[in-house]
Amino acid sequence: MAFRIGRTLPPAAAPISLKDIMSGVAGLFEGESSRNWFEEELRDYYQVGHCFTVSSGKAALALILQALHDLSPERDEVLIPAYTCYSVPSAIIRAGLRVRLCDVSTETLDFDFDKLVEELANPRLLCVLPTHLFGLPADVERVKALARERGIFVVEDAAQAMGAEWSGSKLGSAGDAGLFSMGRGKAFSTVNGGIIVTDNDRIAVAIGKRFDAIPVCGALDSLKLLIYALAMSLLIHPWIFWLPKSLPFLKLGETRFDPDFSIRRLTSFQAGLAKGWINKIMVLKGTRAAIAEKITGYGIMSQYFQKTAIPDLIRFPVLLTDTDAKRDILVKSDKMGLGIADGYPDTIDGIEKLSTLPEGAKFPAAKDVAERIVTLPVHPFVKDRDVKRIAGLFKTMTTKM
Ligand SMILES: *Cc1c(COP(=O)(O)O)cnc(C)c1O
Repeated sequence: MAFRIGRTLPPAAAPISLKDIMSGVAGLFEGESSRNWFEEELRDYYQVGHCFTVSSGKAALALILQALHDLSPERDEVLIPAYTCYSVPSAIIRAGLRVRLCDVSTETLDFDFDKLVEELANPRLLCVLPTHLFGLPADVERVKALARERGIFVVEDAAQAMGAEWSGSKLGSAGDAGLFSMGRGKAFSTVNGGIIVTDNDRIAVAIGKRFDAIPVCGALDSLKLLIYALAMSLLIHPWIFWLPKSLPFLKLGETRFDPDFSIRRLTSFQAGLAKGWINKIMVLKGTRAAIAEKITGYGIMSQYFQKTAIPDLIRFPVLLTDTDAKRDILVKSDKMGLGIADGYPDTIDGIEKLSTLPEGAKFPAAKDVAERIVTLPVHPFVKDRDVKRIAGLFKTMTTKM
């Protein structure tokens, strides 16, 4: 990684303002009712009977998985895309379950449905996770139709799709349960945070039992989050972002496999931070859509959608011709501070510490994606001149290729 001083775009950002932090502090004083209020708004927005807010997306997923396993104790395997966020296998291991992988389609980043049908024959399968990666809508209905007849739960991983819509429907509430993340670099952020939604009463009771047993955050945790929110609201600005980016111990942008994370309820401070979230998400979505539009206007096309219908992306995915082109563009972007980023470092089977995978299984399409994909930033700090420079960089690449 090149060291750079000067304006540097982060790959993704949902800014937190000082005003948000003030409502966070107000939420802290309101206490419990601040979180109840947030959950009620979420139930209403997603038109679901039940909602639980917790410390992170992976905490949300771990709780859902434990609850589903409580309902079907004879089933202990979870099927996920072979190319996804490392938090997902972390949560599966944390829940005491086993990871199963399904190859993806290079064209959609969704499951390869021929492979999915084979994988769903597994009698130990507890649930399957259609995933809206970068905000690209996965075909949840198709997964549901296949999973239902086999008694397999469908958990919609909408960690990157809070507030996203496709064909007039909100993503995240179509499965037996769904989760969202409010971590840094997601569609909307409260520093950290996770949301569970479900319209299934039986599942909600099982999640509720697990939820009641998890600790509430203490005042010290809230104070830590407050300081972190202040730091984040400042350091995410492109004129300062080069600094945290250059500090290796912060490990920014690194996706780690780590099942040893804390599972807590969302703090009232974070619920306060979220105040006005529906409106904020609407504004963020509009900004990101306009930038994505500008990117396509320069002739940069993503394989993953038609120009006529760009999904609610949080990062704009592009598949390059080969892994050399990818390395080249990432090095140049780093020097220029353009915020072009890798997807994930490898496929899930490439995670060394994840040892419970079946031997010998191969995921060639997911590998291919991992080798060739980059994402372009579409967050509110991206200015017209940035899009122009990104387009310029792509032009030099394609003429050379
Ligand atoms: C970020 C993410 C998660 C986990 O969310 P955290 O809040 O970071 O724990 C789960 N799944 C996907 C696809 C994600 O991108």
